[in-house]
Amino acid sequence: MKNLEELVKELIREGFIRSESVREAMLTIDRKDFVPYIYREEAYIDEPLPIGEDQTISAPHMVAIMLELLDIRRGMKVLEIGTGSGYNACLMEYLAYPGRVITIERLKSLYYIAQENIKRCPHSENIRIVYGDGSQGYPEEAPFDRIVVTCGAPDIPQVLLEQLSEGGIMVIPVGGHYFQDLYRVIKRKGEIVKENHGSVAFVPMIGKFGFKEEFYI
Ligand code: SAH
Repeated sequence: MKNLEELVKELIREGFIRSESVREAMLTIDRKDFVPYIYREEAYIDEPLPIGEDQTISAPHMVAIMLELLDIRRGMKVLEIGTGSGYNACLMEYLAYPGRVITIERLKSLYYIAQENIKRCPHSENIRIVYGDGSQGYPEEAPFDRIVVTCGAPDIPQVLLEQLSEGGIMVIPVGGHYFQDLYRVIKRKGEIVKENHGSVAFVPMIGKFGFKEEFYI
Protein backbone atom coordinates (compact mmCIF):
# COMPACT_ATOMS: atom_id res chain seq x y z
CA MET A 1 0.00 0.00 0.00
CA LYS A 2 1.20 3.49 -0.82
CA ASN A 3 1.65 5.85 2.09
CA LEU A 4 0.77 9.51 2.57
CA GLU A 5 4.34 10.72 1.92
CA GLU A 6 4.38 8.89 -1.41
CA LEU A 7 1.04 10.37 -2.41
CA VAL A 8 2.20 13.89 -1.60
CA LYS A 9 5.48 13.37 -3.49
CA GLU A 10 3.51 12.17 -6.51
CA LEU A 11 1.25 15.25 -6.38
CA ILE A 12 4.33 17.51 -6.24
CA ARG A 13 6.01 15.67 -9.13
CA GLU A 14 2.86 16.02 -11.23
CA GLY A 15 2.67 19.74 -10.47
CA PHE A 16 -0.58 19.70 -8.49
CA ILE A 17 0.99 20.73 -5.19
CA ARG A 18 3.02 23.89 -5.81
CA SER A 19 3.26 25.64 -2.45
CA GLU A 20 4.95 24.71 0.79
CA SER A 21 1.78 25.46 2.75
CA VAL A 22 -0.39 23.04 0.73
CA ARG A 23 2.36 20.39 0.90
CA GLU A 24 2.50 20.72 4.69
CA ALA A 25 -1.30 20.64 5.02
CA MET A 26 -1.66 17.50 2.89
CA LEU A 27 1.11 15.78 4.83
CA THR A 28 -0.44 16.71 8.17
CA ILE A 29 -4.11 15.94 7.52
CA ASP A 30 -4.31 12.22 6.81
CA ARG A 31 -6.84 11.34 4.06
CA LYS A 32 -7.17 7.87 5.59
CA ASP A 33 -9.07 9.40 8.53
CA PHE A 34 -11.78 10.70 6.19
CA VAL A 35 -12.57 7.74 3.93
CA PRO A 36 -14.98 4.95 4.98
CA TYR A 37 -13.24 2.14 6.80
CA ILE A 38 -13.57 -0.33 3.91
CA TYR A 39 -11.65 2.02 1.60
CA ARG A 40 -8.77 2.75 3.97
CA GLU A 41 -6.35 0.70 1.86
CA GLU A 42 -7.13 2.99 -1.08
CA ALA A 43 -6.82 6.28 0.79
CA TYR A 44 -3.46 7.14 -0.79
CA ILE A 45 -4.44 6.36 -4.36
CA ASP A 46 -5.10 9.49 -6.40
CA GLU A 47 -8.75 8.74 -7.07
CA PRO A 48 -12.14 9.81 -5.72
CA LEU A 49 -13.75 7.36 -3.27
CA PRO A 50 -17.37 6.75 -2.24
CA ILE A 51 -18.40 8.26 1.11
CA GLY A 52 -22.03 7.08 1.07
CA GLU A 53 -25.28 8.51 -0.34
CA ASP A 54 -23.75 8.36 -3.87
CA GLN A 55 -21.30 11.12 -2.91
CA THR A 56 -17.51 11.04 -3.16
CA ILE A 57 -14.45 12.44 -1.48
CA SER A 58 -12.56 14.18 -4.31
CA ALA A 59 -9.34 12.77 -5.73
CA PRO A 60 -6.28 14.15 -3.91
CA HIS A 61 -5.02 15.96 -7.04
CA MET A 62 -8.37 17.79 -7.31
CA VAL A 63 -8.14 18.81 -3.66
CA ALA A 64 -4.60 20.09 -4.28
CA ILE A 65 -5.66 22.05 -7.38
CA MET A 66 -8.47 23.76 -5.45
CA LEU A 67 -6.29 24.55 -2.46
CA GLU A 68 -3.58 26.08 -4.69
CA LEU A 69 -6.16 28.20 -6.55
CA LEU A 70 -7.68 29.38 -3.26
CA ASP A 71 -4.42 30.69 -1.78
CA ILE A 72 -5.74 30.53 1.80
CA ARG A 73 -3.76 32.63 4.28
CA ARG A 74 -3.66 32.64 8.06
CA GLY A 75 -6.60 34.38 9.71
CA MET A 76 -8.98 34.14 6.77
CA LYS A 77 -12.65 33.21 7.00
CA VAL A 78 -13.53 30.45 4.54
CA LEU A 79 -16.90 29.09 3.36
CA GLU A 80 -17.18 25.63 1.84
CA ILE A 81 -20.30 24.29 0.12
CA GLY A 82 -20.31 20.48 0.22
CA THR A 83 -18.71 19.22 3.43
CA GLY A 84 -18.79 15.55 2.40
CA SER A 85 -16.25 13.74 4.57
CA GLY A 86 -14.86 16.94 6.12
CA TYR A 87 -11.40 16.32 4.61
CA ASN A 88 -11.19 19.52 2.61
CA ALA A 89 -12.61 21.57 5.50
CA CYS A 90 -9.91 20.19 7.76
CA LEU A 91 -7.15 21.02 5.24
CA MET A 92 -8.52 24.54 4.81
CA GLU A 93 -8.65 25.14 8.56
CA TYR A 94 -5.03 24.02 8.76
CA LEU A 95 -4.19 26.74 6.21
CA ALA A 96 -6.50 29.42 7.62
CA TYR A 97 -5.73 28.98 11.33
CA PRO A 98 -6.44 31.05 13.47
CA GLY A 99 -9.16 31.87 10.94
CA ARG A 100 -12.34 29.87 10.64
CA VAL A 101 -13.98 27.49 8.22
CA ILE A 102 -17.74 27.30 7.83
CA THR A 103 -18.82 24.33 5.75
CA ILE A 104 -22.35 23.42 4.64
CA GLU A 105 -23.70 19.95 3.87
CA ARG A 106 -27.21 19.14 2.64
CA LEU A 107 -27.28 15.44 3.52
CA LYS A 108 -27.88 14.66 7.18
CA SER A 109 -25.93 11.39 7.27
CA LEU A 110 -22.82 13.03 5.79
CA TYR A 111 -23.24 15.96 8.13
CA TYR A 112 -23.02 13.53 11.07
CA ILE A 113 -20.10 11.60 9.57
CA ALA A 114 -18.19 14.84 8.99
CA GLN A 115 -18.90 15.95 12.58
CA GLU A 116 -17.19 12.77 13.76
CA ASN A 117 -14.33 12.99 11.25
CA ILE A 118 -13.34 16.55 12.06
CA LYS A 119 -12.74 15.65 15.70
CA ARG A 120 -9.33 14.47 14.49
CA CYS A 121 -8.50 17.83 12.89
CA PRO A 122 -6.09 20.23 14.52
CA HIS A 123 -8.19 23.28 15.54
CA SER A 124 -11.51 21.52 14.95
CA GLU A 125 -13.00 24.14 17.26
CA ASN A 126 -12.59 26.62 14.40
CA ILE A 127 -14.57 24.46 11.96
CA ARG A 128 -18.34 24.83 11.95
CA ILE A 129 -20.41 22.36 9.98
CA VAL A 130 -23.85 23.62 9.02
CA TYR A 131 -26.65 21.33 7.88
CA GLY A 132 -28.55 22.94 5.02
CA ASP A 133 -28.59 24.19 1.44
CA GLY A 134 -25.24 25.82 0.73
CA SER A 135 -26.28 27.10 -2.70
CA GLN A 136 -27.61 30.10 -0.80
CA GLY A 137 -24.33 30.60 1.01
CA TYR A 138 -24.33 31.58 4.65
CA PRO A 139 -25.30 35.26 4.99
CA GLU A 140 -25.08 35.12 8.81
CA GLU A 141 -21.28 34.91 8.61
CA ALA A 142 -20.61 36.81 5.37
CA PRO A 143 -18.42 38.22 3.96
CA PHE A 144 -15.93 35.41 3.33
CA ASP A 145 -12.31 35.82 2.19
CA ARG A 146 -12.55 32.54 0.35
CA ILE A 147 -15.45 30.42 -0.92
CA VAL A 148 -15.03 26.92 -2.30
CA VAL A 149 -17.81 24.90 -3.84
CA THR A 150 -17.02 21.18 -3.94
CA CYS A 151 -20.08 20.19 -5.97
CA GLY A 152 -20.97 21.16 -9.53
CA ALA A 153 -23.21 24.21 -10.00
CA PRO A 154 -25.28 25.12 -13.08
CA ASP A 155 -24.12 28.77 -12.76
CA ILE A 156 -22.22 30.91 -10.32
CA PRO A 157 -24.88 31.83 -7.74
CA GLN A 158 -25.17 35.61 -7.39
CA VAL A 159 -25.70 35.22 -3.61
CA LEU A 160 -22.26 33.63 -3.32
CA LEU A 161 -20.65 36.52 -5.19
CA GLU A 162 -22.38 38.90 -2.81
CA GLN A 163 -20.98 37.00 0.18
CA LEU A 164 -17.40 37.19 -1.14
CA SER A 165 -15.28 39.94 0.41
CA GLU A 166 -13.44 42.57 -1.62
CA GLY A 167 -10.27 40.93 -2.93
CA GLY A 168 -11.85 37.54 -2.17
CA ILE A 169 -11.45 34.37 -4.21
CA MET A 170 -14.07 31.73 -5.01
CA VAL A 171 -13.35 28.37 -6.63
CA ILE A 172 -16.39 26.67 -8.16
CA PRO A 173 -17.12 23.95 -10.73
CA VAL A 174 -19.72 25.28 -13.20
CA GLY A 175 -21.48 23.31 -15.91
CA GLY A 176 -23.68 20.21 -16.20
CA HIS A 177 -24.79 17.43 -13.87
CA TYR A 178 -21.72 15.32 -14.45
CA PHE A 179 -19.04 17.50 -16.04
CA GLN A 180 -18.10 21.07 -15.33
CA ASP A 181 -15.32 23.62 -15.79
CA LEU A 182 -13.43 24.70 -12.72
CA TYR A 183 -13.60 28.48 -12.30
CA ARG A 184 -11.60 30.77 -10.11
CA VAL A 185 -13.54 33.95 -9.49
CA ILE A 186 -11.82 37.00 -8.03
CA LYS A 187 -13.66 40.07 -6.74
CA ARG A 188 -11.48 43.06 -7.47
CA LYS A 189 -12.71 46.58 -6.74
CA GLY A 190 -16.26 45.30 -7.02
CA GLU A 191 -15.57 43.72 -10.44
CA ILE A 192 -15.74 39.97 -11.01
CA VAL A 193 -12.82 38.37 -12.83
CA LYS A 194 -13.32 34.75 -13.96
CA GLU A 195 -10.62 32.28 -14.98
CA ASN A 196 -11.38 28.85 -16.42
CA HIS A 197 -9.07 26.13 -15.09
CA GLY A 198 -10.33 23.25 -17.20
CA SER A 199 -12.68 20.27 -17.12
CA VAL A 200 -13.66 18.55 -13.89
CA ALA A 201 -16.30 16.07 -12.71
CA PHE A 202 -18.04 16.79 -9.41
CA VAL A 203 -21.32 15.51 -7.99
CA PRO A 204 -24.09 18.07 -8.58
CA MET A 205 -24.93 20.90 -6.24
CA ILE A 206 -28.58 20.40 -5.39
CA GLY A 207 -30.53 23.29 -3.95
CA LYS A 208 -32.26 26.58 -4.54
CA PHE A 209 -29.46 27.96 -6.73
CA GLY A 210 -28.22 24.56 -7.86
CA PHE A 211 -29.80 21.67 -9.74
CA LYS A 212 -33.23 20.39 -8.83
CA GLU A 213 -33.37 17.18 -6.83
CA GLU A 214 -35.85 15.36 -9.14
CA PHE A 215 -33.10 14.64 -11.65
CA TYR A 216 -31.30 12.28 -9.34
CA ILE A 217 -33.94 10.11 -7.72
N1 SAH B 1 -15.39 18.42 0.08
C1 SAH B 1 -15.81 17.07 0.34
C2 SAH B 1 -16.31 16.32 -0.87
C3 SAH B 1 -17.58 16.89 -1.36
S1 SAH B 1 -18.64 15.83 -2.27
C4 SAH B 1 -14.73 16.28 1.04
O1 SAH B 1 -13.66 16.81 1.31
O2 SAH B 1 -14.98 15.09 1.33
C5 SAH B 1 -19.89 17.02 -2.54
C6 SAH B 1 -20.83 17.24 -1.39
O3 SAH B 1 -21.66 18.34 -1.69
C7 SAH B 1 -21.76 16.06 -1.11
O4 SAH B 1 -21.59 15.64 0.21
C8 SAH B 1 -23.14 16.65 -1.34
O5 SAH B 1 -24.12 16.12 -0.47
C9 SAH B 1 -22.90 18.11 -1.07
N2 SAH B 1 -23.88 19.04 -1.63
C10 SAH B 1 -24.52 19.01 -2.83
N3 SAH B 1 -25.35 20.07 -2.94
C11 SAH B 1 -25.23 20.80 -1.80
C12 SAH B 1 -25.82 22.00 -1.31
N4 SAH B 1 -26.72 22.71 -2.02
N5 SAH B 1 -25.45 22.44 -0.09
C13 SAH B 1 -24.57 21.76 0.67
N6 SAH B 1 -23.98 20.62 0.27
C14 SAH B 1 -24.29 20.14 -0.95
